Amino acid sequence: MSAYHDRDGFIWMDGGFVPWREAKVHVLTHALHYASSVFEGERAYGGRIFRSHDHSLRLHHSATELGFVIPWTAAQIDAIKQEVLAKSGLADAYIRPLAWRGSEQMGVSAQNNTIHLAVAAWEWGAYYGDAKLKGAKLDIAKWKRPSPETIPCTAKAAGLYMICTLSKHAAEAKGCSDAIMMDYRGYVAEATGANVFFVQDGAIHTPLPDCFLNGLTRQTVIAMLRERGVEVVERHIEPGEMEGFQQCFLTGTAAEVTPVAEIGPYRFEVGQMTRDMVSAYEALVRKG
Ligand code: PMP
Repeated sequence: MSAYHDRDGFIWMDGGFVPWREAKVHVLTHALHYASSVFEGERAYGGRIFRSHDHSLRLHHSATELGFVIPWTAAQIDAIKQEVLAKSGLADAYIRPLAWRGSEQMGVSAQNNTIHLAVAAWEWGAYYGDAKLKGAKLDIAKWKRPSPETIPCTAKAAGLYMICTLSKHAAEAKGCSDAIMMDYRGYVAEATGANVFFVQDGAIHTPLPDCFLNGLTRQTVIAMLRERGVEVVERHIEPGEMEGFQQCFLTGTAAEVTPVAEIGPYRFEVGQMTRDMVSAYEALVRKG
């Protein structure tokens, strides 16, 4: 596949479609210098975007957390995404809405900068390659999810991914496909772009999302588990507890449900409960 800037097709930008290669911003764009941008990651299955409106609402929430207002409503963004998907000609696709502060003011303050919105769609297969079958191998990141007093932790904002990229690069250098990050207190938090779940004696344990993104996939999977009568415990998890967990999986729009085989020194089996959730999630998203 060619680089992202060099593809055929169209990207929706600030009110209409522009040819893919012309969807550009100026180098003196506030977002590029000060990370004043928020985004979403969504997947369409069979021509329908899963939880589209919830993603649009989260985009608005993220913008609010960064102190700006997107000049399109969530309902308008829903319609734009559907248009982008239709124009892409793809049935299964990844959708990326992005909102950012423009270039009127350069400096930390950017009170009067125009807020821009773009939406692109492309084909994106399994996020962790063949891990869906044999389980992903994860590193333990040296970077910690920061305290809610230091970042707007419920926003899906570009700036919060700086330590995710660093962690993922370090993991890849060790032959891992991702890293699990602890939080500022030392509890298990999440992967760099996905939430984490553990199976212990038939029950599910998952970190309390009190300083990181409470993923839509996480919420979907918890509801599915509870519907099945599985006990789900949301709590603070010490890293050492991973020794006693039998199974582990990640959830995220891109990751979907991906089994985990290793986290640092800890080993997990790709067991029945995990495999059931992989296929149940796959069935749900295709049903809508
Ligand atoms: N945490 C982080 C840091 C993420 O980037 C994502 C992906 N958006 C998630 C969790 C999972 O969120 P969702 O299930 O809404 O995609």
